[in-house]
Amino acid sequence: MHPLAPILLSDARAIAGAAIDCLVIGSGTSGVTTAIELADRGLKVAIIEAGPLILTEHVGSGPFANREDIVPQIHDLVRYGTVWTSEKELAAAKARTAKTNNNAWSLVGGRTVFWGGCTPRFRDEDFADWPYDAAEMHGWYAKAERLIGVSGGETDNTAPPFMTHAAQDHLLGRLAKQGIPATHAPLCVDTRAVHGGRMSLGFDSSVSRLLRCRHFGRVENGARLSLASETEALRLVVDGGLVRAVKVRDRTGETFDLSARHVVLAGGCMQSTRLAMASGLGDSDPHVGRYMGDHLFRQAVFELAEPLKEKSLYIFIPPTAKRPFHAQLQGMFQETWYSPLHATCWLDGDVGGRYVLFYCFGISKAEEAGRMVLCGDGKSMKDYCIVNDRSPGDSKTLADMARFTADVGEALGGRVVRTEENAAGSALHEFGGLRMGRDPSLSVTDPDGRFWRVGNLSCADAAIWPHQGSANSYLTITAVALRNASRLAAGLEAEGRAVAAQ
Ligand SMILES: Cc1cc2nc3c(=O)[nH]c(=O)nc-3n(C[C@H](O)[C@H](O)[C@H](O)COP(=O)(O)OP(=O)(O)OC[C@H]3O[C@@H](n4cnc5c(N)ncnc54)[C@H](O)[C@@H]3O)c2cc1C
Repeated sequence: MHPLAPILLSDARAIAGAAIDCLVIGSGTSGVTTAIELADRGLKVAIIEAGPLILTEHVGSGPFANREDIVPQIHDLVRYGTVWTSEKELAAAKARTAKTNNNAWSLVGGRTVFWGGCTPRFRDEDFADWPYDAAEMHGWYAKAERLIGVSGGETDNTAPPFMTHAAQDHLLGRLAKQGIPATHAPLCVDTRAVHGGRMSLGFDSSVSRLLRCRHFGRVENGARLSLASETEALRLVVDGGLVRAVKVRDRTGETFDLSARHVVLAGGCMQSTRLAMASGLGDSDPHVGRYMGDHLFRQAVFELAEPLKEKSLYIFIPPTAKRPFHAQLQGMFQETWYSPLHATCWLDGDVGGRYVLFYCFGISKAEEAGRMVLCGDGKSMKDYCIVNDRSPGDSKTLADMARFTADVGEALGGRVVRTEENAAGSALHEFGGLRMGRDPSLSVTDPDGRFWRVGNLSCADAAIWPHQGSANSYLTITAVALRNASRLAAGLEAEGRAVAAQ
């Protein structure tokens, strides 16, 4: 247990004894954004998180930022393997004989403690399959960017870019000359000046956002917003179209029920979907666990002709109507290769380095066959696999991404030292499983993430997305969570007034 636990964390048993308006399952950006928004509106909110508290801020905001020897070991405290498979290999995955080939994390703050910080918006056309359009999202994007401290974004709303210098401009110029317009990257690193008592917030992480929230404290002390760690939601007990209780197991291993007026799934796309399936919600709704996917992901390393004589650069090549993928370039390094276990390796590069890391994320359209299958007894967080076969559209985009990788290397006057197409699921930008829509016969939730068939249940994370743009998901998850929490708060307030008037 973290030494600060007696000050910060609540006992899940104490949450069981309190009158909770909303129980949020998961403490990543979707859960914490939702919880703070609801608490700000006067509602009593409790978060349960399956993992432990290990850090109180993003791993790159503190002393470990450049410790590539230590950071992977911190990951290993809270990381577990998952399986993405094909239709052909599914039997092995179900029998639990398939090797894990992807990662998942479970800790207070979720993946926000380790994420890489790149925060582009979706393009307007990326919302074509959503039940609302881009115009609806613009205001929520702006609010989310302010909340998490995005710098170098597309609008004046964001702070000055983190990475700009003449050597980077030189590379941007080379790309532009070859018809590849690029820019500095939008990053979730707070670049507002440190002055007059104001400290930089560093990278956004939901754990530090939660700890800064004035409503946050122990439920035992009457706090409006509380969190119990190492408390896993095992099953939703649904009866008569309502969640009557959430069966949980706390850090002592005991299982008992928590109840609340409303329950929000925010376990990350995979775990929210798994919990819904493990609770039998798929029995009455064939869309539960379907239309799941992740970005297509190619990575490379380029060797430039000479060092830039600058330690760090971060370039973003946006997608276009014809190019359903974007690219991120990070430098400068001695020869190396990207690993998700040190996603902020670009923070402090090597002034003599000649190597640039390249990541290309492409859109994979949601297919019904892209789905979750429960494995083993389906009861633990590890008891699932994702079936994901490349569609003809994916194969075409992947071929275009491979060509584009070579084009960018050439435009920079560099050499592609190594490039690989990564396996499905490795982009860590998963979506779908509980897709939202306007038609209850074609979707699991309404446009606000509220389940059509369970009145007091909603989902805050990317499980509800019917589709995604090429943009990395953190900013959009946060913006959608803000939108939906605001609408949920209004709904709960109205219900409260109606009950009081009776
Ligand atoms: C190494 C890395 C680099 C990344 N880089 C970027 C980037 O540059 N840009 C970007 O946009 N995105 C990036 N991402 C992805 C981004 O971090 C995630 O999309 C986002 O943080 C997901 O937030 P979430 O709230 O949906 O879920 P998560 O962060 O996964 O949080 C969910 C939490 O819920 C808990 N939980 C789940 N089920 C239960 C249960 N049954 N009971 C209790 N608790 C439960 C889990 O333990 C977990 O802590 C990166 C991710 C990683 C890991």
